[in-house]
Amino acid sequence: MKYLSCSNIQSGLRFEYNSIKLCCFMGTNTPEPLYIKKDYYGEKLDWTELLKKINIIRENQKKGITDSHCVGCFGLQEKEWEDNPKFKWLQIAHWSDCNCYCTYCYRYQSEFEKPKKRYKIMPIIKELDKLGLIDYNGELAYSGGEPASLREFDDITNFFIKKGERLIMVHTNAIKPVKSVLSGLKTDTMSVTVSVDCGDREKFKQIKRVDAYNKVMDTLKKYVKAQGSNKKMVRSKYILIPNVNDTKSDIDKWIEESLKIGIQQVILDFEADWLARNSENIPSYIDDLYEYIVSKTKEKGLELQFYGVANQYRTIKGKDLDEIGLHQG
Ligand code: SF4
Ligand code: SF4
Repeated sequence: MKYLSCSNIQSGLRFEYNSIKLCCFMGTNTPEPLYIKKDYYGEKLDWTELLKKINIIRENQKKGITDSHCVGCFGLQEKEWEDNPKFKWLQIAHWSDCNCYCTYCYRYQSEFEKPKKRYKIMPIIKELDKLGLIDYNGELAYSGGEPASLREFDDITNFFIKKGERLIMVHTNAIKPVKSVLSGLKTDTMSVTVSVDCGDREKFKQIKRVDAYNKVMDTLKKYVKAQGSNKKMVRSKYILIPNVNDTKSDIDKWIEESLKIGIQQVILDFEADWLARNSENIPSYIDDLYEYIVSKTKEKGLELQFYGVANQYRTIKGKDLDEIGLHQG
């Protein structure tokens, strides 16, 4: 049966520093995202109760009723959805510590409340595994703070590698290389994405508010070298921030520097707040720049992928979203 839904409604689960959700997105006309549990700080969970709540959302989709928090989300697609009682798209974002200060980071937004306490995710993962609720044929994505600042990172990563997780997606600022990333990359089941956003030290300092461009490029070089047979697992991301890194020359520098260190796949995203404020009035030079990025990456032999906010832009512009990547950087 065909119906409107998304992969996260069907089998997503995301742990944040203060809540549990299905994903990191939300619909277009809602004051808040779809919470599965608010004010969550690692307490023992009643999975029967939580699954009941999630199943109501899934069953409603089958009846054509989309949860109000999801209405208008670009992730919704009408197709035959797999009935999977397990969680296949796991996102770990339960910590927010980081050694970088990106201007666009969620940690500097007004709605960000300092975590009341830190919690460990490993006991929860082990419980989910014991209950048979993880489908390892999906994706585990880290998208919280910085992996190098997460003590549990190696344990979680090694646990999923041993279980044969199909893909582990690491989002890191790459200021410090991480040992288990260097070894994980060899397995061809780990991808690493770094928002470099520029191609020089000065611009990096302006965006990231830390003088670490050279360190990041050094780490990326190490990661590129550590890859197994799949050479497209280390990706440089460009978050397009209007009035900051929005010229063709900015793009050229970023592409040039990425190629120099052997990157083969790049990712485009947009600054989320900017797009939310300007979705109805996107200046034409941004449209031109988008087309420039698409053609320039193609010309240089780089594979280009799009993240969530870029897909929102592409939806607004009526672009064809073949296979939507529901990721956050
Ligand atoms: S991706 Fe969009 S539609 Fe899917 S659960 Fe998240 S907000 Fe809802
Ligand atoms: S690296 Fe990520 S978590 Fe750290 S400041 Fe930048 S956006 Fe925020």
